[in-house]
Amino acid sequence: MNNGKVQYYTCNKAIPELLKFRISLLKYFFRKKKYPLFSFSSAHGGIIKTYDMQKKLKICKFVKHNNHSYFSLTMPHWPSEAFDNMIANGGLNITASGTPYKKHIDTVILGITRRCSYKCIHCYEYFNLNDSDTVPVERWQEVIKVLQKKGVSVITFSGGEPMMRYDELLELLETADHSLSDFHIHTSGYGVTPENAAELKSAGLNAAGIGLDDVNPGRNDLFRGCKGAYEQAVRAIKCFRDSGIFTYVNFCPTKEIIRSGDIYKYLEMLKDLNVGIIRWLEPRPCGAFLDIDEKVLLNQEDKDFLTELYIKLNTSEEYEDYPLISYDAFSEAPCNMGCMMAGNSLLYIDSLGNVEPCVFLPVTFGNILNENFAIILDLMRKAVPMPLKTTCPSILLSTRIKSMKEAGKSLPVPYDDLKEEISALVSQ
Ligand code: SF4
Repeated sequence: MNNGKVQYYTCNKAIPELLKFRISLLKYFFRKKKYPLFSFSSAHGGIIKTYDMQKKLKICKFVKHNNHSYFSLTMPHWPSEAFDNMIANGGLNITASGTPYKKHIDTVILGITRRCSYKCIHCYEYFNLNDSDTVPVERWQEVIKVLQKKGVSVITFSGGEPMMRYDELLELLETADHSLSDFHIHTSGYGVTPENAAELKSAGLNAAGIGLDDVNPGRNDLFRGCKGAYEQAVRAIKCFRDSGIFTYVNFCPTKEIIRSGDIYKYLEMLKDLNVGIIRWLEPRPCGAFLDIDEKVLLNQEDKDFLTELYIKLNTSEEYEDYPLISYDAFSEAPCNMGCMMAGNSLLYIDSLGNVEPCVFLPVTFGNILNENFAIILDLMRKAVPMPLKTTCPSILLSTRIKSMKEAGKSLPVPYDDLKEEISALVSQ
């Protein structure tokens, strides 16, 4: 046991641990019946192809926490039953999305509440926030069962602020099957205490992603529309970390923090806080950012800077004591994995029950409150059967979505209204 402290492994330090991991894969290879989709073959998108893609994505670092390893935020901790379940469903064949060799979905985010006392300017639930909840806990439980039956590696409770629906959050954790998936929350840190962090840990929470966007408290609080947000986020990181929950940070790298150079101080702060992973989520034109997109989107120079820094942080000895970086926009670039929305790797159910391809794309394929979830999921998978080798659809479709909103449509817009545009992206 390492009492919640995380350790980063890269370069030479990673070799013995990775060897151990690779040897452990033989157990899947020799049990074909139990793990029919485990494969070394490149033709099936198996391990050899996965290693090639990992090299391309510069995934050369992993994190150990309480004797378990975290390779990414889209895989369950290893070793675990949930990790084995992922392998059984072809989850390690990361380049085989949309083929019979990868049946499972990596991550699903559930917006379990509409409540939040913050006003973050990048919130993708901006148009849904309200004081009451729409989807009853029993419906979320049914949906989780369907997701786990299909095979989902990581189920994340989000919102709104999930800590504002605390009793139901506990109930969802306590009633879910932890042998099939890992469970995370995404929180601003609001209301997190040592006591409730310990309670969440006992209920089966594996990991907590805290939203923290700046090293400067005043600038962070302004961004999050709440005085004290910075202090609360830092306190929450410490509470989760000290209770033995794997802790990571969700970070929106803005032009301001990049161009001021403060991103280095920010990284230093998170290293000192001993978080496991920092997930970089570039600004996207949706939610509160929909109306001011051109001002907030990063330009090529900003992206090149982030890419270079990402590579250094994950691969060089100089940064071996820094958290692992997960840079979604880099992984999802057309020259890498492509856009993995609509169940190719991820999907989203918002706080009104709408099933959407991605948190950043307000398009609904149906609503879990009055429709059969398995049928909605099927429709979505058929509409986007393979990863898209295009620029992020959230950017490509934002002008159209914005004009629909201005014409009086509420968000998310129905899939039928964007069917042609989405089909055009699929056929590119
Ligand atoms: S739409 Fe696709 S590329 Fe854009 S953020 Fe979502 S998953 Fe990533």
